[in-house]
Amino acid sequence: MPAYDYDLFVIGAGSGGVRASRIAAGHGARVAVAEEHRVGGTCVIRGCVPKKLLVYGSHFAEDLVDARRFGWTLEGKSFDWPTLRDNVLAEVDRLEGIYHTTLSNQSVELLTGHATLLDAHTVQVGDRTVTADKILIATGARPLIPDLPGAEHGITSNEVFHLEKLPKRLLIAGGGYIANEFAGVFHELGVEVTLVNRGDMLLRDWDVALRDRLLQISMTKGIKFIFNCALDRVEKRADGSIAMIPKDGSPIEADMLLWAVGRRPNIEGLGLDAAGVALNDRHAIAVDEDSRTNVDNIYAVGDVTDRIQLTPIAIREGQAFADTVFGSKPWRVDHSCVPSAVFANPPLASVGLTEAAARNAYGSVHVFTSDFRPMRNVLAGRNERSLYKLVVDAASDRVLGAHMIGPDAPEILQALAIAVKARLTKAQFDETVALHPTMAEELVLMR
Ligand SMILES: Cc1cc2nc3c(=O)[nH]c(=O)nc-3n(C[C@H](O)[C@H](O)[C@H](O)COP(=O)(O)OP(=O)(O)OC[C@H]3O[C@@H](n4cnc5c(N)ncnc54)[C@H](O)[C@@H]3O)c2cc1C
Repeated sequence: MPAYDYDLFVIGAGSGGVRASRIAAGHGARVAVAEEHRVGGTCVIRGCVPKKLLVYGSHFAEDLVDARRFGWTLEGKSFDWPTLRDNVLAEVDRLEGIYHTTLSNQSVELLTGHATLLDAHTVQVGDRTVTADKILIATGARPLIPDLPGAEHGITSNEVFHLEKLPKRLLIAGGGYIANEFAGVFHELGVEVTLVNRGDMLLRDWDVALRDRLLQISMTKGIKFIFNCALDRVEKRADGSIAMIPKDGSPIEADMLLWAVGRRPNIEGLGLDAAGVALNDRHAIAVDEDSRTNVDNIYAVGDVTDRIQLTPIAIREGQAFADTVFGSKPWRVDHSCVPSAVFANPPLASVGLTEAAARNAYGSVHVFTSDFRPMRNVLAGRNERSLYKLVVDAASDRVLGAHMIGPDAPEILQALAIAVKARLTKAQFDETVALHPTMAEELVLMR
């Protein structure tokens, strides 16, 4: 008789948990996974996937306007939110089904319900108590709702994909990538969007030139911004409208409020104390480079560890854990040089060091920029400029960072990230022949 019910028990069937479960099972482990909501986790159910589909859906608004300049006549165009919403949600259902199939094909047992650790080897899910040799915590994160009177009148990204109807006026609290992405989507769909920010900048960790360009383009499009706004409370009015009341200044009114002020690791009700699992100073589960917690047989991956809150990172951490612990193939995730994007309108993408970070780390750096109007925008009469920026180490000529805002920037940057990760030099960029006519050719033409 084995000492435990399972070799591995995973808590959370999101990006990290599903990958770890199926890879560990593939290595021969007896695996079970607990999920309290829906298999697929944040990314598939209420994050990257439905968000990106809304980005696609909303961009038609501009494309259909521009189409006229390209000779198209579009009579009687209109937009129907329930159609977009329901098609997106149907796609989410389809993907969830694929995740279920993946787990069952690998003989991973799925337990539905909230999982709580009773001790380092025992987990309770509903009325079932099971034991496991190793435990992986992959419970992700959830939207932060500020501790303010009336905060409950706002919704979060969890609810935004299910709106009955679109509001006329939307307030988005926050300045990070989720705030800017939803600002772009809902503005395109005809909603009056105001982004309310506690500080004075958007996208704090991004290169300042790109941040400024996004702000300028967003304002030109008609998105409103209120900076340095310290909130006192939120009120719901008798007519159903919402008012954000700043500590000083007049109320900011709208029909809906979306909180996009950050995400916090899901650690509540997990029984971390009972198992003796320690947190770090960000209230995330503290782990070492092998995703191992302070308790020898308990590991954690993904957003709950708050290293880099992105799907491909959670997936890699889950894969590295499973290969290392169950596959006799030890390896570690490299958290440096991770590409990321903001699917705002237009989108931003970045890899490596910003100009400021590169100057801190390397002292002397060369900066190359290309500030241009994509030919499609020129013909469309759309005065929107793209900005590409390369940050290069003056001593070695190595490209330390690449930053872009403009149409398709994330698609272009994924390939560019290979070059930056491979530590290529600016001279090697210059040796590459341009592919004409593209926007991406600017990357090899900056002098
Ligand atoms: C609106 C939005 C847009 C995003 N866009 C992008 C993007 O474009 N690109 C990108 O890379 N990332 C994006 N992300 C982030 C990405 O979704 C997360 O980084 C990723 O899902 C993290 O994976 P995870 O496995 O750590 O956690 P999750 O995918 O969140 O999975 C955790 C799972 O654990 C379950 N769970 C929690 N506690 C328990 C418990 N006690 N018992 C049982 N089950 C439990 C949860 O229900 C959940 O299903 C976005 C996130 C949001 C919210």
